[in-house]
Amino acid sequence: MRQSTLFLKTQREAPKDETAVNAKLLLRANFIHKLMAGVYTMLPLGFRVREKAMAIIREEMDKLGAEMLMPALHPRAVWDATGRWDVLSKVMYQFKDHGGRDVGLGPTHEEVVAEIGRFVIGSYQDLPKAVYQIQTKFRDEERPKSGLLRGREFTMKDLYSFHADTASLEEFYERVKNSYLSIFKRAGLTALVTEASGGDFSKYSHEFMVEADAGEDFVLLCRRCGFARNAEIAEEKQGNLCPKCGTGALEGIAAIEVGNIFKLGTRFSEPARLVFKDPTGASHPVIMASYGIGVERLIGTIAEIHHDERGLVWPDAVAPFSAHLLLVEAGDESVRVFADDVYRELTERGVETLYDDRAGVSAGEKFADADLLGIPWRIVASDRTRASGAVEIKRRDAALAALVKISELSAFLKQATAV
Ligand code: ATP
Ligand code: MG
Repeated sequence: MRQSTLFLKTQREAPKDETAVNAKLLLRANFIHKLMAGVYTMLPLGFRVREKAMAIIREEMDKLGAEMLMPALHPRAVWDATGRWDVLSKVMYQFKDHGGRDVGLGPTHEEVVAEIGRFVIGSYQDLPKAVYQIQTKFRDEERPKSGLLRGREFTMKDLYSFHADTASLEEFYERVKNSYLSIFKRAGLTALVTEASGGDFSKYSHEFMVEADAGEDFVLLCRRCGFARNAEIAEEKQGNLCPKCGTGALEGIAAIEVGNIFKLGTRFSEPARLVFKDPTGASHPVIMASYGIGVERLIGTIAEIHHDERGLVWPDAVAPFSAHLLLVEAGDESVRVFADDVYRELTERGVETLYDDRAGVSAGEKFADADLLGIPWRIVASDRTRASGAVEIKRRDAALAALVKISELSAFLKQATAV
């Protein structure tokens, strides 16, 4: 894509009222635009990152279940059935439509999916089943101030599973745990599987926590064996011996919750009358579990972890483009013709390239913008490199650049990125 045509204008300064690193950088680099606290537009670059993040999530989720899409607008009745219309009244956007009916915007979808389950599940032969969606959630979060980490309108991937017995639930739950770990790893994050309060059905749920200063959670971590427990529920305190290995000391760390998996038992199936018949014909409530990942929170977390003093440093798998080609103008048109050729070559070879072809912008400004945007490969086409039929190429986080011949460029990129 040609930068001259892109809906983009980087900012030198972050807005004064922003404190979170992810918000400052993503706003300055024009990946996002803030409409109000906790409500953001994904501008073209942010949109591409979000697409990449969702593609990773989809690829892993498709191994576990099928994708569908549930509505954001819900009638009160499904929420009254579980009592959560009242319980969640501070978090859920609730209002009356013009006919005077109570409706709300979904902060989560257990009630709705259980209601749908009644039409799909009837017998033990219909189980287990799993279904997921990537969908917009609404939560009236109090004073959201953490940029993409806490939105009032945000995208969540939520997966729901349905089982006849706990053995089936346990087996599937472990598969999801591993799937989550690969998603976060591919997105460039190290997530700690953390025990957290579990509700009635199981002692613990599991949160996927990324160690980060910006984190709003406090986790007790044993660096010796990897045991982690959310401090909010824990009997242990910082400095105590690890309850798992008994040798390490628990350290308290700030962390961001990027995902959460939860055994629900029959908490939602019973009120929805979601039951199945066993081989003898007897009815039982279906056992359920839910599994969430916040897409924008994931992106915000990546920004919190992968940046330096000059800007963002995207991991390859979620970067908006693989390469950022910078045209450094000289006195005449010859460098532009040369850079256009390089752009064509890269594009034809399937290298996703943002081409900074802007006229009248200094090399210094282009370099600063490239550092701010954080695309993994920076490629410079200038009068100097043209003389040797080459471009200058470097990783966003590397100090030194290499001179690579145009004919070898795509092979160079493929090999270097594969390593
Ligand atoms: P938190 O404790 O951070 O408020 P939660 O426990 O309420 O989150 P869940 O209901 O478990 O969150 O939602 C599943 C996932 O959705 C979370 O792990 C997180 O990644 C994401 N998420 C939750 N709330 C938000 C939000 N306000 N903005 C962005 N992502 C969110
Ligand atoms: Mg949670």
